[in-house]
Amino acid sequence: MLELKNYVNGEFVSAHDGQTLDDINPANGEVIATIPRSKANDVERAARAAEHAQKDWNATSLEQRIVWLDTIADALEQKHEAIAQAESLDTGKPISLARRVDASRSVENFRFFAAFGREQTEMTFKMEDATNFVHRNGLGVVGLITPWNLPLYLLSWKVAPALLMGNAIVAKPSELTPMTANILAETLDEINLPKGVFNLVHGLGPEVGQAILEHPSIKGISFTGGTATGRIVAATAAPLFKKLSLELGGKNATIVLDDADLDKAVPGAARAAFTNSGQVCLCGSRILVDSKIAEQFTSALVKEVESMRIGRPDEDATQIGTVISMEHLLKVESYIDLALTEGGTILTGGTRSMTGPLDHGENGAYLAPTVIGGLPHWSRCATEEIFGPVVTVHTFDSLAEATEIANATEYGLAGSIWTKDIEKGHALAKTIDTGIVWVNTWLHRDLRTPFGGVKNSGVGREGGQWSLGFFSETTNVCVMDSN
Ligand code: NDP
Repeated sequence: MLELKNYVNGEFVSAHDGQTLDDINPANGEVIATIPRSKANDVERAARAAEHAQKDWNATSLEQRIVWLDTIADALEQKHEAIAQAESLDTGKPISLARRVDASRSVENFRFFAAFGREQTEMTFKMEDATNFVHRNGLGVVGLITPWNLPLYLLSWKVAPALLMGNAIVAKPSELTPMTANILAETLDEINLPKGVFNLVHGLGPEVGQAILEHPSIKGISFTGGTATGRIVAATAAPLFKKLSLELGGKNATIVLDDADLDKAVPGAARAAFTNSGQVCLCGSRILVDSKIAEQFTSALVKEVESMRIGRPDEDATQIGTVISMEHLLKVESYIDLALTEGGTILTGGTRSMTGPLDHGENGAYLAPTVIGGLPHWSRCATEEIFGPVVTVHTFDSLAEATEIANATEYGLAGSIWTKDIEKGHALAKTIDTGIVWVNTWLHRDLRTPFGGVKNSGVGREGGQWSLGFFSETTNVCVMDSN
């Protein structure tokens, strides 16, 4: 069993009071590691180290920091398989997914921001008699708080631009998935990133996370997590005038028009619903289908979902592993029970059974991908974020109705539209209140584009220029011409 430590000022250390928490493998209930149960004074130590290190780090040139990002990417790439294994063990996600998505994207985040940094040019605004030069500096120390669903993928998405812009970091991963943040800390230590530039403090949200939010030296908070936690983050950090980026929950609609190519729309909708057991903020957890093709689409969808292989996360052929924990499994199951009381019908799934070898006993948090029909679109199951392998199917009779249903939740993160008529799809996309809409695809990402939600799905955008803007402070220097 691993004994993970905090990483503070270039050293791996226990929590000041020695307390620990267990890290549990959701596929069998076994304890795989312990982590420090840190408190405010551990955050204090990390913030002080970061504050001290930031000045020198910010004084390095952009070019030097770009080289660091490439060095980090190279070093992480060497650990691609170790990252995938750790992520699969911690989250219960299939190893193939952890390799293809989590490990690859974690490396790519550093490579992307290195390349993007190289493209930056000084921003100037010429006047008749003067020139304005816009200088960008790091904010100072930033707090990065991340969830359990895509642990290193989401942490590195913040670490890379934060480092690039000259910030020092205090990071807190979810206590459910600490392993790959530890791999990142080990990697940064091995390549001798200056001490204190990256600090990692493990522990619970209300203890460590809250202390990060409240710490006076931490000038910006980039938070990804649930909407309810986002409210606490905003309520704590806003009166302290911290810069805030909030990437929160979603209840995204997959809209299938009557002219959609079902050979693409059916697997596309299934992938959008069930990737990572539905535990991606972008997952299409509501399918809205034109009533003219509803029967044909739904029976093809059920067939597609029933062909997905549920199995042990460590097996290459597994497509659906576990959800994050037994506790979360119970929450998801409670929504399936609720669906029945709300008038829904389970079209497939709804059980813990696996189609793969069930040798992990009853302690594995396995839940079959579940498709529910017959629910009113305003029911709780169709409007609240379940964040598990559950999708509800609804019908519409006009594009206006599709828009109305798609927009009838508190969330506005993402969505997808499936149609052969690209112009129609593009026009419909503009009527959906979300930060991201895909037409005839899902989770197809260009890292230069803005990423984030509207309504209760978040505040601010990440990606490309938006990340650089968040992680920097600008100063305009206006210089009069000499004559
Ligand atoms: P949570 O909101 O429960 O937790 C997110 C992080 O916040 C964790 O590190 C958590 O720590 C920490 N935290 C909890 N309480 C506090 C607090 N009082 N102060 C500071 N930090 C705190 O989310 P989950 O981990 O359950 O992740 C799932 C959620 O994340 C879903 O709603 C999903 O939609 C959303 N998400 C959004 C994304 C986006 O880009 N919009 C992407 C991915 C996920 P701890 O784990 O110890 O509780």
